[in-house]
Amino acid sequence: MKKVYLDNAATTAIDPEVIEVMTQVLKEDFGNPSSTHSFGRHAKNRLELSRKMIAKALNCSSQEIIFTSGGTEAINWVLRSAVADLKVKRIISSKIEHHAVLHSLEALENEFSIRIDYVDILPNGDVNTTHLVELLSDSIPTLVSLMHVNNEIGNELDIERIARICKQHEVYFHTDTVQSVGKTMLDLQQIPIDFLAASAHKFHGPKGIGFAFVRKGIVLQPLFHGGEQEKGLRSGTESLHNIVGMAKALELSLSSLEEHKNLISGLKKYTIEQFELHFPDFKINGNPNGFYNIINILLPFSEEKSAMLLFHLDMKGIAISRGSACQSGSAKPSHVLAEFLSEADRKKPSMRISFSHFNTKEDIDYLVSELKSIA
Ligand code: PLP
Repeated sequence: MKKVYLDNAATTAIDPEVIEVMTQVLKEDFGNPSSTHSFGRHAKNRLELSRKMIAKALNCSSQEIIFTSGGTEAINWVLRSAVADLKVKRIISSKIEHHAVLHSLEALENEFSIRIDYVDILPNGDVNTTHLVELLSDSIPTLVSLMHVNNEIGNELDIERIARICKQHEVYFHTDTVQSVGKTMLDLQQIPIDFLAASAHKFHGPKGIGFAFVRKGIVLQPLFHGGEQEKGLRSGTESLHNIVGMAKALELSLSSLEEHKNLISGLKKYTIEQFELHFPDFKINGNPNGFYNIINILLPFSEEKSAMLLFHLDMKGIAISRGSACQSGSAKPSHVLAEFLSEADRKKPSMRISFSHFNTKEDIDYLVSELKSIA
């Protein structure tokens, strides 16, 4: 059966060159980076070289990169430590964040009785910056946590502007860059972000590995206690093959960034043209000028047809998502779309199409022809 993967915001296929370096580490570099003998020293070298590669890609220093098991861990760690150790009394965030942020905030609110303020969302899914500035006029120790690229609708936040607003108000700024690292250039000398979270499996690297960026001079305490790995900030024997794979994946992604961006933007444009042609009443959920690899589409289908939509596409070998991957298969509506769609539109089927450079126009043609057979 034909297989079409259009769910790259959920996860991406690992680049064959990444598999190659990972296999080499698994076969040959099995030493523990904490061991002092040559096997350990060799592993430690590879570990630190990977950290350097990542730091160079983000224009920050190696000591500001701390490896974690992925985006979720990096987010949990930063938010918790900001409250427990940096004595933040309030977090400002938004209702359209990933659950890694939203559920962490709920836990911190219960445990530490901190205040959580949610910034308003505009009808196009963008963050209302004027409201953010209003909230910041209340001068209590605060951390702002706002995502760079929304994983469901692709809206892109101007993180440089938000970071500067946070600096002016002397509050910390954390951004969930899980959907943007590896897909756009981030210059951390230029953008005064305090913390960010990233995950390798979103940029053609392995699953179960990611990192946090923690600006030099900010002292967080660890989430786990144990050995001295990651300067004691993240104990546990390092997952070297994953770390080396992640560094390679980031290097490859950024070296072909412009080429891939052009290709993917072209596919997104083509998708919109095809929908305009075949489903003239479709709508784009979120900002139509969102990030280049994600589009969230509302289809003019009846409620009965919506129920079977993803199932039918899956039977035809097409992988797309109705919202966040974490919710796929569940009947729960998307918390992101719920924030700004009308009651009537929420009942209609919405689907997220997310591209990678492995996609082609034929993939879109196949999707459109299958959707036409349902409509
Ligand atoms: N934040 C966003 C925006 C995401 O899309 C995801 C993954 O779906 C995460 C965080 C969680 O990252 P990870 O899968 O590495 O834990």
